[in-house]
Amino acid sequence: PAAEAGLYTASDQIVLLSEENVGSVLVNNSAAVVAEFYASWCGHCISFSPNYKKLAMDIKEWKPAVNMAAVDCAAEENRNLCKDYKITGYPTVKFFHAYSTPESSGVPYRARDVRVLRQLIIDSLESHGEPWPPACPPLEPTSEAEIDNFFKTNSAQHLALIFEDAKSYVGREVTLDLLQFENITVRRVLNTEDGLVAKLGVTDFPSCYLYYPDGSFTRLRVRHFTPPPPTTPPCWRAFCSISIGHFCSMLGDGETTLKVLHSERLQAHSKMYAKYFPGRPMVMNLLRSLNSWLQNQTADHISYEAFKERVDNTAQVPDAALPEGVRWVGCQGSQPHFRRYPCGVWTLFHVLTVQANNTGGSDPQEVLKSMRNYVHNFFGCRYCAEHFENMVKEGMEGVTTLPYAVLWLWSRHNQVNNRIAGALSEDPLFPKIQWPSPETCPSCHTVTHNGEHGWNYEQVLPFLGSYFSSSRILPDYLE
Ligand code: FAD
Repeated sequence: PAAEAGLYTASDQIVLLSEENVGSVLVNNSAAVVAEFYASWCGHCISFSPNYKKLAMDIKEWKPAVNMAAVDCAAEENRNLCKDYKITGYPTVKFFHAYSTPESSGVPYRARDVRVLRQLIIDSLESHGEPWPPACPPLEPTSEAEIDNFFKTNSAQHLALIFEDAKSYVGREVTLDLLQFENITVRRVLNTEDGLVAKLGVTDFPSCYLYYPDGSFTRLRVRHFTPPPPTTPPCWRAFCSISIGHFCSMLGDGETTLKVLHSERLQAHSKMYAKYFPGRPMVMNLLRSLNSWLQNQTADHISYEAFKERVDNTAQVPDAALPEGVRWVGCQGSQPHFRRYPCGVWTLFHVLTVQANNTGGSDPQEVLKSMRNYVHNFFGCRYCAEHFENMVKEGMEGVTTLPYAVLWLWSRHNQVNNRIAGALSEDPLFPKIQWPSPETCPSCHTVTHNGEHGWNYEQVLPFLGSYFSSSRILPDYLE
């Protein structure tokens, strides 16, 4: 089930989006919302999830002004939601303004680093047009004139001033950190505000002052960082927030949407599946029937809706069906977010290259081209797709025989294994190794004349041929 496979829980200070709550979380909300659209099978999403959690914990005090949310697009019940928001790659992080309309599709953030994301949120809030999220305090720098009038026009009992240069985010971060303290206002003052800088005798930027109604002030010595070091370590902000907050509490004051499909590519895919996919008879009937319909299409493009309708209709025909539901067997992970779909993609294409080789296909690159198209157009992990495309560009053209196609895919898969070994997406029970291991296929390994490891390609090829052969597929797997 999706809830089990998802990467977040409510205790992460992240709202779990669903069809039920999306209309109130992303639409017409008095808070702005940062939402992550991810797929629980996507390695980059898994690697990014600790950062997203850290960000959520980091800015949980900002909640009345900006909230955080996430949705697992791999879960069947969220598919339409992600489609409505035109999500084509994972993870996608978007900023939704307060009081967004149902048509709003959010502003994408490309950054993945916690500090950069926090700063992007501040930039988005600062440039937030009307209607402004009511709980968000002003973030722009203040002036001497404004400060002079402050206590005449505000009920807050304490005014904290953060002196800093224009590029620094500390002032705005502290402002948001303390937004829930009713009796304290934080404003940033730029180092170019000469009058105030001279008046308070400020020499360090950033530095932190409490300013009183009678014009007197106290510098808050931020422990360990007085004077602050030239670069601002993130903890300076925490110390500053805590110092101000603590100070005030002592005084008693006290969070796939492709609409059209390219006919020619779809025809190529479909032809290839109908020829090589070693499916059960019911599934093969469906694939063949779909294939003959597709080969008769003459328009350049086919709408996704028309294609889907055709698949659904074909599945109604007696003796033609797709399996119902999704149950992972060979690609089952030790936890619900491991392996599954990407493992299925690799396995499928290894099987297809082997089948093409066994049955004597005419074009050595037929299966690889199909995989390239599939990954390019439909594989939600966009970084994976980019890496794969780079590998394709580096050498797929040289594949001139069917056995070479089998070996080419095997060696590129090993390149990926090598690159992502040890990543958070790695299932501890299925470590990323240079595959097959010497235990699985002793004869595949050899030692070269200078003592290094080498592959014995003459043995690897038949090993792959038998490992991915149709006879090893269990057509009627029952638990
Ligand atoms: P998988 O790597 O999915 O392998 C499935 C099965 O194939 C293994 O259990 C094993 O039996 C067999 N196998 C393993 N190696 C080979 C091989 N060399 N040749 C033949 N069979 C083999 N994840 C990222 O984090 N970053 C990426 O950039 C990335 N790029 C990807 C690109 C593509 C095209 C695909 C399909 C997936 C990509 N992934 C990426 C996902 C990642 O490769 C794994 O699919 C995922 O982490 C699940 O791993 P797994 O343990 O189930 O084994």
